[in-house]
Amino acid sequence: MNVHDKYKPLTFWEKTYLPGVTASLWLTSKHFFRNMTSHTLRLVGIKLRWPGSVTFQYPEVFRPIFPRLRTKHRLTKREDGSPRCVACMLCETVCPAACIYIIAEEKLAEPQIEKMPKSFDIDLGLCIFCGYCVEACPEDAIRMDTGIVEISNTSRIDMLLNMETMLNLEPNPERYVKFDKEGNVVI
Ligand code: SF4
Ligand code: SF4
Repeated sequence: MNVHDKYKPLTFWEKTYLPGVTASLWLTSKHFFRNMTSHTLRLVGIKLRWPGSVTFQYPEVFRPIFPRLRTKHRLTKREDGSPRCVACMLCETVCPAACIYIIAEEKLAEPQIEKMPKSFDIDLGLCIFCGYCVEACPEDAIRMDTGIVEISNTSRIDMLLNMETMLNLEPNPERYVKFDKEGNVVI
C-alpha cells in the first residue's frame, strides 16, 4: 500500500468496519482449519505437504533458543572457585541502564590480582539485556548464556541478582538449538 493511501479518509463502507472484520475472520478461520486438517490427518498417518503450525506446551516444553540470545547473567569462576571478576568496574561504567552495583575489596590471597568484588548485584528490573557488560569485560568474568529467560518476580527487590546466585549459575546447553556439521538447525 502506498503510504499516502493509508491516510485517505475512510469510505462509508470502511467506516462500518465490516470489510476489516470479515477479512480478519476469514484469515483466522483459514489458518485454524488448515492446521486442524494437517494435525488430524497426521494422527492417522497421512502427511500433507504443509506441516501445520507447531505450538510448544510451555512451560512443560521449552522452545529451544538460539545461542545469540542474551539470557540471565552468570559470573564465571577460577579453578579455586573464586570469581574471575577483578572488580575493574568496566561493566558497571558501560551499562546503559546503570543497573550493575559492585563493591570492590582487596584480594589479599593473590597479590597478582589486586581486587575482587565484595558484592556484585544486577537489577534485572532495569537491565535491558544489551550485553554490553559481557562485551566490556576484560576477564570473561560475566556471561549471559544460562538460557534462563524466566526472570519475572512479584517485587522489585526480588529482581536483584546477587553475586552468590550468579556464581552458582551454569550454562544450560539443553535449552539451546543444536546444529549439525553443515550449520543447519537440528529439530
Ligand atoms: S545487559 Fe546491558 S543493561 Fe543489562 S546489566 Fe549488562 S550492560 Fe547493563
Ligand atoms: S565483571 Fe568484568 S568488567 Fe565487570 S567488574 Fe568484573 S572484571 Fe570488570
